[in-house]
Amino acid sequence: MMRIDVLTLFPEMFDGVFGASILGKAKDKGIVSLEAINFRDYSNNKHNTVDDYPYGGGGGMVLKAEPVFAAVEDLMAKKESEARPRVILMCPQGESFTQKKAEELAKEEHLVLICGHYEGYDERIREYLVTDELSIGDYVLTGGEIPAMTVIDSVVRLLPGVLGNESSAVTDSYSTGLLEYPHYTRPAVFRDWQVPEVLISGNHAKIDAWRREQSLLRTLKRRPDLLEKAKLTDKERKWLASQE
Ligand code: SAM
Repeated sequence: MMRIDVLTLFPEMFDGVFGASILGKAKDKGIVSLEAINFRDYSNNKHNTVDDYPYGGGGGMVLKAEPVFAAVEDLMAKKESEARPRVILMCPQGESFTQKKAEELAKEEHLVLICGHYEGYDERIREYLVTDELSIGDYVLTGGEIPAMTVIDSVVRLLPGVLGNESSAVTDSYSTGLLEYPHYTRPAVFRDWQVPEVLISGNHAKIDAWRREQSLLRTLKRRPDLLEKAKLTDKERKWLASQE
C-alpha cells in the first residue's frame, strides 16, 4: 500500500478531499493510506508557535525549521521499510508539477508533502530536509494545502486498481504526450448538433484513427509545444505540417 502523509497547519482542509470520490474509495480499498498531520503538534515551545520573525527584518512570518524537521523525522522513525520517503515541499519556486512527475511519484512507497503558509520557510528546510520542491503553477496561493491536494489527487488516480477502467488514465491528456480527443455521449443529436458520424459507425479501426487525428489536431491548435517531444510517426508529422 502506498502511504501519503501531509504536514499542514490545517488538517481539517483535507477531510473532504481524502474522504470523497475516487480518493476516498482508494483509501477504503486499502490501495493508499492518506493522513493529514498537524505539525504544530511538534512545536517545542509552550505557545505551540511554528513561525517567527525573519532575520534581517521585513514583512511576514517565517515557518520555523524545528517543528517541520521533528514531524518528518517522527514519520521516518515510525516507518516499517528502510526506503527513505520522498519529502516534497509545496512551493511556488519549485519544479513545475507535470503528469510525468505524477507518474514518477506514483511509483514511490511513501510520500511526505509539506504545506507552507506565511511568507516563507526557513531555508534550512529546503536545503537539508526535502528531496523535491513542487509548484503547481506560476501564481501564489495562501498556503500549500490546495497544491498538495492537486499533487495527491493526480498521483493516487494512477495507482493500479484506483480507476475503474485502467485505460482511462492511459489515454488521458499528457499521459500520451498529446491532448486527449473529444468525447460525446447520448443523444446523437442535441439541439441540431450531430455527433461525428464515425463514432456511431461501430467501426473501431476507423474510430481509433479519428481519435488519433483529433488528438493530434487539438494538440497542434492548443499546445503545439507538446508536439516536439511526442512520439509521432513520419506520416503523422507530415500530416500535421499540412494542417498548419
Ligand atoms: N513568499 C513566497 C514566495 O514568494 O515564494 C510565497 C509564500 S505563499 C504565500 C505560502 C505557501 O503557499 C508556500 O510556502 C507554499 O507552500 C504554498 N504555495 C503558494 N503558491 C504555490 C504554488 N504555486 N505551488 C505550490 N505551493 C504554493
